Amino acid sequence: MGEPTTSSLFGLDREELAALVSAAGEPSYRAKQIMDAVYRQRVETVEEISTLPQGFREKLIHSGVQVGAARIEKKFVSVDGTVRYLIGFGDGQSVETVWMPEGDGGEAGDGSEAGDEAEDSSPGTSGAKARSEKDEPIAALKRCATQKQTESQKPQDRARQNPGRSTICISSQVGCAVDCQFCLTALLGVKRNLTAGEIVGQVCAVLKDQGVSPPEDRINLVFMGMGEPFLNYENFIKASRLLVEGVGIAERRMTVSTAGIVPRIHDFGGETIRPKLAISLNASNDALRTRLMPLNKKWNLEMLMAAARAFPLRTREWITFEYVLLGGVNDTPENAREVAELLRGLRCKVNLIALNPGPGIDFTTPSEERVAAFQKTLRGAGIPAFVRRPRGRDIYAACGQLKRTVAVAISPEPQLQSISLAPQE
Ligand code: SAH
Repeated sequence: MGEPTTSSLFGLDREELAALVSAAGEPSYRAKQIMDAVYRQRVETVEEISTLPQGFREKLIHSGVQVGAARIEKKFVSVDGTVRYLIGFGDGQSVETVWMPEGDGGEAGDGSEAGDEAEDSSPGTSGAKARSEKDEPIAALKRCATQKQTESQKPQDRARQNPGRSTICISSQVGCAVDCQFCLTALLGVKRNLTAGEIVGQVCAVLKDQGVSPPEDRINLVFMGMGEPFLNYENFIKASRLLVEGVGIAERRMTVSTAGIVPRIHDFGGETIRPKLAISLNASNDALRTRLMPLNKKWNLEMLMAAARAFPLRTREWITFEYVLLGGVNDTPENAREVAELLRGLRCKVNLIALNPGPGIDFTTPSEERVAAFQKTLRGAGIPAFVRRPRGRDIYAACGQLKRTVAVAISPEPQLQSISLAPQE
């Protein structure tokens, strides 16, 4: 093996680091030292990798090797504690990454419950129902207590007091090619895929900014930001492995959401290291789904549901179906009955998301009553269904709102604060 061809350590996995180290004539354990420094200590310069001998560090620096960590360019803080980060890369492109400091136990759909199955009873209709109903008062108490404490606390203290509740939502592409008619990200089109390093880089940048570290702090991760992860499959899979092996986030704490790229759902089931699966269903029949999600012409509901039914679930694992409710379009009792029919017999749950509005989106948000009625019909049919509480709508951080909004003027809420990014301490 010759000189390393990449100049960035970020994104290199164990094998690639081993090759780099051996090309430099260094012992193989140096690969692990670099891996720890980059992904766990989150150093920003090669000089800071204090476990490496000075000579090796200089050699790396002279041959143009950098850490290449992602940079936070802007940070928007919501009144509900959600933080939307604009994260920039070397070529001037940027994506959005969202930090949700705590779940509320009721929405069970933002990934905050991602790792709960290790502690809870098995999923399934009765278990999930019992949990959400039982936990509601406790969640409300926790919410109250947290609200009182937050002002005087550092983010890391908050994360530690809400173990298993903080969630990072990451992007997989700059923009998106899928063209879902209700999603703001779709208006950007797709600019490019993110590399594995850029995907992991978002996580490390946010962990560093929030002063938290897995596995001591239980962080959940959802691939539900900008882009379609299954259209950037190789990089997404490599990133998932790095997140487990490098950053230290457990597989069961990660969930990937796909709009329904059927061949990749099959591939994904065969991966040895993989997050859990979520599928954006969003419609109850083909005519409706094709109208809302044009990719349904290529992979229709029959193909999608066949892939879901064939998906090899692990013990205590279930598939999540997301369903964006659009007022008067896909939110009738008949739609709910059709969804229940589609999902019958599958080990799954449904997360209902009332439309998060945005400029250029020609749909309306249904009333709370309508959302509740939809949920009730599903539950009545034995399908665990949860309503996802919107997060960070005031700063354009909620589902389907990620389009790199930076102009404060177009925010719908006056309390938006744009924090210009000071260099990280
Ligand atoms: N491309 C992947 C990953 C994005 S996940 C996917 O589609 O699954 C983002 C989730 O937000 C998806 O379930 C999507 O259907 C939903 N969503 C998109 N636009 C939305 C909007 N305006 N309001 C609420 N949810 C939306």
